Amino acid sequence: MTAQSADEGLHAQGGPLFPWGSNLLTSSLLNKGTAFTERERDVLGLRGLLPPRVFTIKEQLGRVYGNFLRKPDPLEKYIFLTTLQNRNETLFYKLVQEHAEEMIPIIYTPTVGQACLEYGAIFRRPRGLFLSIRERGRVAEILRHWPHPDVRMIVVTDGERILGLGDLGALGMGIPVGKLSLYTACAGLHPYYCLPITLDVGTDNTKLHEDPLYIGINQKRVRGAEYDAFIAEFVAAVQSAYPRALLQWEDFGNTNAFRLLRQYRDQICSFNDDIQGTASVALAGIIAGLRLTGGRLPDQKLLFLGAGEAGTGIADLVVAALQQEGLSLTDAKARCWFVDSQGLVVQGRPGPLAEHKTPYAHRHPPLATLTEAIEALQPTALIGVSGQARSFTREIVARMAALNRRPIIFALSNPTSKAECTAEEAYQWTDGRVIFASGSPFPPVSLGGRTYVPGQGNNVYIFPGVGLGALVCEATKITDGMFLTAARTLAAQVADEDLALGRIYPALSRIREVSVKIAAAVADEAHRAGLARRPQPADLEADIRARMFEPVYRDYV
Ligand code: NAD
Repeated sequence: MTAQSADEGLHAQGGPLFPWGSNLLTSSLLNKGTAFTERERDVLGLRGLLPPRVFTIKEQLGRVYGNFLRKPDPLEKYIFLTTLQNRNETLFYKLVQEHAEEMIPIIYTPTVGQACLEYGAIFRRPRGLFLSIRERGRVAEILRHWPHPDVRMIVVTDGERILGLGDLGALGMGIPVGKLSLYTACAGLHPYYCLPITLDVGTDNTKLHEDPLYIGINQKRVRGAEYDAFIAEFVAAVQSAYPRALLQWEDFGNTNAFRLLRQYRDQICSFNDDIQGTASVALAGIIAGLRLTGGRLPDQKLLFLGAGEAGTGIADLVVAALQQEGLSLTDAKARCWFVDSQGLVVQGRPGPLAEHKTPYAHRHPPLATLTEAIEALQPTALIGVSGQARSFTREIVARMAALNRRPIIFALSNPTSKAECTAEEAYQWTDGRVIFASGSPFPPVSLGGRTYVPGQGNNVYIFPGVGLGALVCEATKITDGMFLTAARTLAAQVADEDLALGRIYPALSRIREVSVKIAAAVADEAHRAGLARRPQPADLEADIRARMFEPVYRDYV
């Protein structure tokens, strides 16, 4: 898998003839717009189809960035970027790469959340594959409609749990599209290799049934045996059409997410970013944060608000990290506690307990509220993954600050409107002592003459590097060990200058460098575990860098 081999595949697309004339201008992966050279214009039938002046990519960048800035709000900026991506991907990725800190919140959280909510209304041109359950029995045939035969990275959703926004059905397509853009922008995965997929099995969101602009099938969500058979057909079709592809499960409702990961992780090279990617980025934040508190991981007690994919995923990886540091499984699990919508998760609690919560149902009297749980457990870290806006009240945050010199408080729920508290509240209510991270970005906070830069526990720090690492070594599967390695590698990338600002993640402007380090660590782990299909190169990092897509125009003639 190299950027060059993707280019060759791209050039062969549609048969032996390279697209010509106006077809070239509508081929987003090949189009250069006004940057086609004089010679290309003559040889490729473009003369007259473009204004006469030839521009450099730098000049084009100035134009599109100016246009981006003119857009009045984030959703308009999202629409503008989507249109650019559909017109000229090289220029799109150049723009995203040059202004990563500004663009990532538009192509992904938080703006992508609003874009998904309005995906039907803002719909212009399809991107990705829509597979509806009405097409059961035809999935293999439909996969062949995708124009690129060598797909290596698939992000798939069934739209049931989009960010913290719930069931958005087919509107969820914004998520696989956005995540794959991040793979390219942040880890240099060639866009030619990327395929976003939405499995439309209906939606239980009745508002969408009444929406005249809804783009999905208008029926209740299919569940049970029919759903499972559809997923099985999909996985088999992917394996047959794209045997080298990595499948990323994305934003499935939590009953399916855990089940599907368990069922398919050894059958097809795949992972679930909401569970495993989130876990890795959160663990990295905790490890980096401990450099500020001066504490050790085995001495921490973590209390989670929310016991879903994100929360129990994080706890599972924390447990693996603690075991690596010498704790027994029982002792490691005892460091993680959960409060969910029914109160503290404990043994013998009335009502059924989902399987993913049972390892953390400790022996303890039942407690109804988060406040009571903090009082009883005296945690060192409070992790919000509940989707419940403003659930970390002043009283709760101040209590954490009374219990700890440097409390760790992560408000990870997305989008911004769902955050358990804002960065400003966290810093203010702890007199600036908090080690804070959020799921969606918050602006810097000024307090007592200091400026704090809140870290964003964004999965984008992890999944592009993990995916790239798995792809370059052609891993047969993705293990928890790879996510643990990725977390430790990310934490090591946090510089003292970041920590001095209160930031426990590296600046997003360094994301490609961070992704290379993570990819190398993951590939190394795959080689050591005997899971790599490619032989190990002498210099893993150099090999990875050579394979990365760069948004530069190639000469066609
Ligand atoms: P989920 O649906 O699997 O789990 C949500 C959990 O919250 C459930 O256990 C539920 O019982 C609990 N909950 C609901 N209401 C509650 C209440 N009032 N009090 C306490 N607990 C309550 O969802 P998830 O995938 O775990 O995601 C949860 C949140 O985390 C979402 O907002 C998501 O955007 C966010 N998230 C952030 C990141 C990140 O920052 N990197 C990554 C993944 C998910």
